[in-house]
Amino acid sequence: MSIKGKTIIITGASSGIGEATAKKLSQEGANVVLSARREDRLNSLKDEIVKNGGMALVVPADVTKKEDFKKVVSSTLEEFGRIDGIINNAGLMPLSYVKNLHTDEWDKMIDVNIKGVTNGVSAVLPTMMEQKSGNIVNISSSAAHKYYPGGAVYCATKAAVKMFTEGLRAELAPHYGINVTSIDPGFVSTELTDTITDDEIKKDMEPMFKELTPLQAEDIAEAIYYSLSQPKRANINDVYIMPTDQE
Ligand code: NDP
Repeated sequence: MSIKGKTIIITGASSGIGEATAKKLSQEGANVVLSARREDRLNSLKDEIVKNGGMALVVPADVTKKEDFKKVVSSTLEEFGRIDGIINNAGLMPLSYVKNLHTDEWDKMIDVNIKGVTNGVSAVLPTMMEQKSGNIVNISSSAAHKYYPGGAVYCATKAAVKMFTEGLRAELAPHYGINVTSIDPGFVSTELTDTITDDEIKKDMEPMFKELTPLQAEDIAEAIYYSLSQPKRANINDVYIMPTDQE
């Protein structure tokens, strides 16, 4: 099914998977609403999309703030009149060993990775339920399926996103025509690892980074596009995508 003319909100659109997804969906004809905190990056992305013939709206927001999401929704409805999809993508991964007690980082991951997703869903749901249509795509991770060293809290947040997504699908898809998908990537080459401050885990991860050919953000954008472009009768519950040489 074509996504031409559909209006899709993307959180974390200022880099990595979110940025690649915005480019892909706009190439396929969607109106993209670009959200994140770094407004300069969002404006550059919008310029590029518009230069290539696409439609984009920038609405800066912090996903941990419900008031910010209200602004995202009202600006989107003002500009495009509908919300056909949301990609809850914003996330952080400051990995560390539990014994090192980086508890501020645990809290941040819980706030951004979990509450950022529940906030995004609660903001768009009234509109989607009224429309009796929509797509919710939540970016979980292979970390929802297995523990990675230093990932006790990160893996827990992604497992929470995954289970929340399954609950949404069961409650919304059959009754409100809202399709719901979890995207679970393995290691993707983005800025995500820049959020790691723990020296011990950084050192332990070096060999993996050297040996692995990671996925690219564009690979995940394709998976997101695939889930959005199916006929309404087909709900893509989960796309679990790993680098070929990651164990
Ligand atoms: P990036 O670091 O490139 O992107 C993260 C995005 O999240 C940025 O655009 C950042 O924007 C945004 N963000 C962070 N905090 C907030 C906040 N409080 N409010 C709004 N936006 C925020 O990493 P990725 O593209 O890799 O990450 C995207 C998603 O994919 C994350 O959920 C991540 O957990 C998940 N993922 C990534 C994998 C990987 O290996 N890279 C593997 C599996 C899943 P800004 O700073 O401008 O606000």
